[in-house]
Amino acid sequence: MKALQYRTIGSRPELVEIEKPTPGPSEILLRVTAAGACHSDEFIMGTSAEDYYFKPLPLTLGHEVAGVVEQIGDGVHDVEVGESVLVYGPWGCGRCYQCAQGQENNCEKGMRAPGIFSDGGMAEYMIVDDARHLVPLGDLDPVKNVSLTDAGLTPYRAVKSALPTLVPGTTAVVIGSGGLGHVAIQLLKALTQSTVVVLDVADDRLDFAREVGADHAFLSNPDAIPAVKELTGGHGADVVFDFVGIQPTADLAAGMIRTAGHVVVVGVAKGAVPIGQTTVPLDVTGRAINWGSRTELMEVVELAKRGAISIHVEEFGLENATEAYDRLHAGKVRGRAVIVP
Ligand code: NAD
Ligand code: ZN
Repeated sequence: MKALQYRTIGSRPELVEIEKPTPGPSEILLRVTAAGACHSDEFIMGTSAEDYYFKPLPLTLGHEVAGVVEQIGDGVHDVEVGESVLVYGPWGCGRCYQCAQGQENNCEKGMRAPGIFSDGGMAEYMIVDDARHLVPLGDLDPVKNVSLTDAGLTPYRAVKSALPTLVPGTTAVVIGSGGLGHVAIQLLKALTQSTVVVLDVADDRLDFAREVGADHAFLSNPDAIPAVKELTGGHGADVVFDFVGIQPTADLAAGMIRTAGHVVVVGVAKGAVPIGQTTVPLDVTGRAINWGSRTELMEVVELAKRGAISIHVEEFGLENATEAYDRLHAGKVRGRAVIVP
């Protein structure tokens, strides 16, 4: 079968021919119907040899996967061949305290996420380790909805964690209107009565943010701090969601957060918001979000079924998948790049 693999540190991914896998006991073989390309894949491919801690190469990319059940291994129950499913990506051990609550993203034994720590779904077929990692997709289109598994789930966890703060009259700032950020904007509009302000570095991204529901959109630079202060009667933002995570965006978050506000960092980079008694306003809290839980994925799928959120998708064939990553690398993808094998 064809698969898109990251094979050599520092190189771009390659389309290769590998053996079609067969499911062992408790495993499920999916025929992949769609697989999303995430900026986190760029993070993996940008990691130096000394810092590389993911699956030893070669790695089949793709941690956002939808598929149709092709074959089931011994001991798999309640899964039908032909069923259309989404793959819950942050595979945990299933047995530790965190996993027992469905928070496999926080597994105490470490995640074995496909496309990151094991082979993923940018291929014609993929093995899923356990039936609990499948969520029925029903009639939803796999191409338009595959990214619910990360670009939907991760901002959902971020927004849900901030809901107690986001009462009517509050202001939420989203930094980065990309694959995850454009869903965060929709989630905030669907789940709160807050004013949504978006910051990005490119004008076309600001237009995109307005199209998906942003009330205000500003260029991401230090002028955004007084702009947000002015919009909020001098108070600042009640919640800042940072979908970039570099030091300049962390500094924006620290500079515009309101007293007792909440900073939620999602972007995977080296930026840090210095939470201390003299570095941010009083009583500010911070949280770094890691993906989401199994039940949160079910909740996100419900939101999509009700039409409350929809992911903007650019579609590519497996033979053009490297082009999808080139566009992502260059910051040209509007929404999510999805590979359809
Ligand atoms: P993306 O490339 O689709 O979007 C990033 C957006 O940020 C783009 O619109 C870009 O123009 C904008 N941007 C870049 N620099 C900026 C700046 N200085 N200020 C404001 N905006 C800026 O990326 P994505 O796939 O949406 O991923 C976003 C981040 O989230 C990445 O760092 C990714 O690794 C991370 N991520 C984290 C998790 C998690 O569980 N924590 C899960 C998935 C992705
Ligand atoms: Zn666990």
